[in-house]
Amino acid sequence: MANAEKKVVISGAGMGGLATALGLARKGVQVAVYEQAPAHRELGAGLWISINGARVLNDLGLGPDLEKINLPPIDRVVRLWNTAQAWSVYNKGAENSKEHTLYMVLRYELHRILLSALEKAQPGCIHLDHKCIGYDETNDGVTVHFEGKPSVKADVLIGADGVHSKVRQQMFGEVRQNFTNAIAWRGLVPIERISEKYRTPMATTWVGPTAHITSYPVQHDGRQFISFSGQVDSQQWEQESWSEPGELEACLGDFEGWHEQVIEMISGADVLYKWGLFVRDELPTWARGHVALAGDACHSMVPYLGQGVNLAFEDSCVLVNVLTGDQGIESALQQYDALRRERGYKVARASMDMLRVFHHADLGKEQRARSYIEKQWSKEKVRERYDWIVSYNALTVGV
Ligand SMILES: Cc1cc2nc3c(=O)[nH]c(=O)nc-3n(C[C@H](O)[C@H](O)[C@H](O)COP(=O)(O)OP(=O)(O)OC[C@H]3O[C@@H](n4cnc5c(N)ncnc54)[C@H](O)[C@@H]3O)c2cc1C
Repeated sequence: MANAEKKVVISGAGMGGLATALGLARKGVQVAVYEQAPAHRELGAGLWISINGARVLNDLGLGPDLEKINLPPIDRVVRLWNTAQAWSVYNKGAENSKEHTLYMVLRYELHRILLSALEKAQPGCIHLDHKCIGYDETNDGVTVHFEGKPSVKADVLIGADGVHSKVRQQMFGEVRQNFTNAIAWRGLVPIERISEKYRTPMATTWVGPTAHITSYPVQHDGRQFISFSGQVDSQQWEQESWSEPGELEACLGDFEGWHEQVIEMISGADVLYKWGLFVRDELPTWARGHVALAGDACHSMVPYLGQGVNLAFEDSCVLVNVLTGDQGIESALQQYDALRRERGYKVARASMDMLRVFHHADLGKEQRARSYIEKQWSKEKVRERYDWIVSYNALTVGV
């Protein structure tokens, strides 16, 4: 089937769904994206885009836009939770430092540039207020159903509908979700609420015995913000949702005794969001017949390596590569599964392993903390942790 004859429906206009749609549209495929939200409103917090994700965005022609929304920090440091002692890390100045470049962006801004590029590439292909509730497979395609809206037919359905994916639910039923004994906080703080002495644009990971918090500058509409996301050991179950507000007092309680810079940052957020961190059992496949999953729908992961969104971009690129090749649709989706699943779960497992690194009893004792940090964030360790992740080039996979 020629690209122009292929009809692809994507459930979910998040990061992965929009990148997939844009890649397909640029190759002449007919795409339609259905998003449950009635409007694109949520500012979100920061996302960091590492080179493996940025390669995909550059290939989609978004490099200049990405540069515009980026707010590059002058350094990336690990800081001790109570004294603020800092260590510069992540191969700054090393010969492979380019590979470790990060783009620090507000999710809203990245969403905006993806939406606008897609709207240009295929006007009218995004349909808001369409909640996908299931699908029926036929011999030659799929019929996708929405709550209170007419169904649509397509050759392919991509479930890019996030952690609570309905498409996944239909493929596998309820997949067990396991609480990781950690909860997360996130917030966005206008820079003017931060004392001047703490405004230097730094990407910082504060590490402590039972929690860590990552913060970095982002920009929106000409204004600067500090975006932060903190993870705390906790036995208490919380909802897994990006938009569940939490109480300031509870957040301050989780970071009691931390450096005043952390406390000031937390206190400066208009709204704090709190959610439980879960991981799901690995799926036996990401593709069946004419249907495939991408992004958080098939590999939601804890945010300890900052890879959730980057992996969603990698998925999107490989999906586009296989779907615009010569093979039939079912075998293209099988190839996608074979090429991506192992990588996705390997990164998800590595992210989980980071919890033990970030939260460590040695960090509670100043004399031990120094040697712990110097060992765990040595150049060699950082390379071991990140090089295999960021060197992956999705552009060459499945072509
Ligand atoms: C509102 C929101 C805010 C977020 N903020 C941050 C952040 O600040 N920092 C961070 O690191 N990560 C954030 N994330 C998560 C991050 O964007 C994802 O982990 C990552 O980008 C993977 O992308 P994805 O496309 O798989 O999923 P997502 O980007 O989560 O996109 C999934 C999309 O599918 C839609 N959807 C869900 N169910 C249905 C359905 N049944 N029918 C149709 N559409 C459906 C959702 O509304 C969403 O737009 C946020 C996610 C959301 C939804």
